[in-house]
Amino acid sequence: TQDLLINSEKLSVSGQLAAGIAHEIRNPLAAIKGFLQLMRSGQPTKQEYLQIISEEMIRIEDILSELLVLAKPQISKRVPKDIGQLIQQTVTLLSTQAILNSIEVIVSTDDELPLLVCDENQIKQVMINFIKNALEATASGGTIEVSVRKLNYAAIEIEIRDTGCGISKDRLARLGEPFYTTKEKGTGLGLMVSRRIIESHGGTFSVTSTVNVGTSVILTFPIERADERIGMPVH
Ligand code: ADP
Ligand code: MG
Repeated sequence: TQDLLINSEKLSVSGQLAAGIAHEIRNPLAAIKGFLQLMRSGQPTKQEYLQIISEEMIRIEDILSELLVLAKPQISKRVPKDIGQLIQQTVTLLSTQAILNSIEVIVSTDDELPLLVCDENQIKQVMINFIKNALEATASGGTIEVSVRKLNYAAIEIEIRDTGCGISKDRLARLGEPFYTTKEKGTGLGLMVSRRIIESHGGTFSVTSTVNVGTSVILTFPIERADERIGMPVH
């Protein structure tokens, strides 16, 4: 079993990211350009070319939509939220993917969870990223458990545990590097973007994994004391 508290330097959005974006977008663009040139040269248009062009355009779209989160203003709209409910909504959102792959997703939440002051859409995106990763790593018949616990009312802990392929030690060390992916259609941006959102909420995350057994991701968010919340609107 490997433990890692992902260090923040590695994930800082820097020149490395800019170079990565340029590179990752140039590749699909080159493919699109090449096939367009081929079609303009008078050769008969093959269905296959159109297919590749459309796939490469989707790839650019995927990369840009993940990166857009980073471009959003730092000060986002934060209100106290029932995180258990928010996670249940996320799981429902992803349930077709789970059902199609025969993966059971179990959600359990502590009673009387304190509200988390957060940007709802950002935290939803984080949960989608982690649960999707768990779904993508888990084979048919596997299980994903999402648990939400309160830690003495001072923090909320969310665990996403899967019975998937796991992550080897050297791969674990690379998690969160921009564009690091082991998936054919991955962007390698999910963890980096998630980390940014978690940190902007004062939280942390850590990953524990055993190859061929599964992976556990633990997120922790500090909770403001109730007396600090007085006067804030509850939605
Ligand atoms: P992407 O999902 O697009 O590949 P992420 O940043 O979300 O990008 O994840 C990066 C990599 O981390 C994945 O490609 C995968 O190798 C690994 N990973 C993340 N979560 C898990 C998990 N639950 N089980 C196994 N591997 C994982
Ligand atoms: Mg992902």
